[in-house]
Order: sequence, then structure tokens, then C-alpha cells
Amino acid sequence: MPRLGLGTWPLDDREAEVAVAQAVGIGYRLIDTAFNYGNEVGVGRGLAASGVKREELFVTTKLNKEDHGVDEVQRAFERSATKLDVDYIDLLLIHWPNPAQDRYVDAYRGLVRLLEDGRVNAIGLSNFKPAHVDRMLEATGVVPDVDQIELDPTRTRAAEREYLQAKGILCEAWSPLGGKDAGIREHPVVTRIAERRGRTAGQIVLRWHLEIGDVPVPKSADAGRQRENLSVFDFVLTPDEVAEISALDRGGEGITDSDAFGH
Ligand code: NAP
Repeated sequence: MPRLGLGTWPLDDREAEVAVAQAVGIGYRLIDTAFNYGNEVGVGRGLAASGVKREELFVTTKLNKEDHGVDEVQRAFERSATKLDVDYIDLLLIHWPNPAQDRYVDAYRGLVRLLEDGRVNAIGLSNFKPAHVDRMLEATGVVPDVDQIELDPTRTRAAEREYLQAKGILCEAWSPLGGKDAGIREHPVVTRIAERRGRTAGQIVLRWHLEIGDVPVPKSADAGRQRENLSVFDFVLTPDEVAEISALDRGGEGITDSDAFGH
């Protein structure tokens, strides 16, 4: 799995087609989409237009709560694979646990079946808290490959990352730059390090993700910023710089609560 990917929300089909083809041309190989984004057709067209071989690409998509069930997940796979125009999906995630609906264990059993049938190469979760993962592990005994969670320098989720690491589950970061709000990219701690190193604030934040060991999926439709976001593999941050950025954590404030929200 690539160490960094392209996010595609909130691009529509037309925008996604252009942004994805452009990103793959720049060098991105991991593309992150979801049934819920309504852009899988555009993502698929962009991948095809890129001319890069399918086996070199890493396509992630996610399924919604209506698909939480063993048979429902098989249908969700067919639907997304058809839209993306691919024979297999590299990583399929349960988008939100929706604990009130209480069907995520069955959804996960559906993912395990897809994995056994060779339709997907990896399976995982998104927005699952340790309690949700624990319950799923107890019920199925199958360790998911990934949990994709909201994670940035103000939402560092150290305990959850430690938990995932202990279980052997890779942590992916959504809204890794803090989303549309430029607050993190403008924070003096970040801009000072950026200035010192002759890098952009976005690159410092993305490098921080790599240093703490998660896989960020920053979204940009702009070729310059896509290139900028991928150019973070030729420098490192010192442990002190990592600690300074991690200290921007707000103690859990501002994290979307997946016990209350989901689709
Ligand atoms: P993000 O990637 O943290 O930030 C995206 C915003 O930052 C966009 O407004 C983008 O604008 C701007 N930007 C990107 N690179 C920049 C740079 N180098 N300098 C300045 N601005 C920059 O937030 P996100 O889009 O919310 O999250 C990323 C991806 O995570 C989504 O696209 C989606 O694939 C995934 N996601 C998953 C979940 C989930 O529940 N699993 C939830 C939300 C998102 P431009 O496009 O104009 O560059």
C-alpha cells in the first residue's frame, strides 16, 4: 500500500475524472473514494485515462450503512466495482460503524467473504473506535487491515493509534491537513518549521503524518498542490519537531463522534 494517497471528497464525477487522471500522472498511486461521495464513476474514468496499469494502482472505496449485512456487502462491492470499472478493489472499508444500527459485525463478515473470494485485496474500517474494533474482533477473529480515522495535528488520537498499532491495524488519516479550514496550515508552530526548512506548511503537516506512521489521504484538485503534497519523501522532521506539532493536539475536541454520526 502506498504511504500517501489522494482524497477525492467532495469532487463530483467530472471533477474527479480530471483530478484523478492528473494526480496519477503526477505520481499518486493510492486513490481514496467512497460510494457516498457519488464520484466513483469519475474516479474510474480518471484511472482509465491515466494510462497506468491497474496492478500499479491502489483503489480504496467505502460502503454505507444500508449495506451493513453479509449479502448487502457483496452487492455493494458489485455496485462500486461496476462504477469504478474495475474487477477487484484494493481496499474496501466500512465507512462508519453506525452502532445504533448494530450491523457492522455482519458487514465485516461480508468483507471477509469478499477477501476469501479474491474480489478485494484488503479490508478495513473507517471511523471505528477501539470499542467497535474489539467487538468485531471478538465476533470474527479476523484482524482488519486498516482503520481510516479523522487525524491531524489538532486531533492526534495517540491512544487510538497505539491501540491500532498493537492490534496490527494500519491507521489511515482523513482530513490530514485539517480539511478546508486553513487553521492548522497557518499555525505559527507549523509555519515556523516550514520556513526553517524551506517547505510549505502543508508539506510539514503531511511529513508529520509519515513520521507518526499513518497514511494520509490529502485532497486537492489543483495540480500544483497535488504535486506539493506528494513531495514529502525527500526530507524528515526531527523528533523535537514532531513533538512540537503533536503538542497542537486539543485533547479530543473537534473529533466527529462515530457513536452519534454516520452514513
Ligand atoms: P484535507 O485533505 O485535510 O484538506 C483538503 C482541503 O485543503 C481542500 O480545501 C484543499 O483545497 C486544501 N489543500 C490541499 N492541499 C493543500 C495545500 N498543499 N496547501 C493548501 N491547501 C491545500 O481534507 P478532506 O478533503 O476533508 O480529507 C481528505 C480526504 O479524506 C477526502 O477527500 C476523503 O477522500 C477522505 N475523507 C474520509 C472520511 C471518512 O469518513 N472516512 C471523511 C472525510 C474525508 P484544493 O483542492 O483547492 O487544493
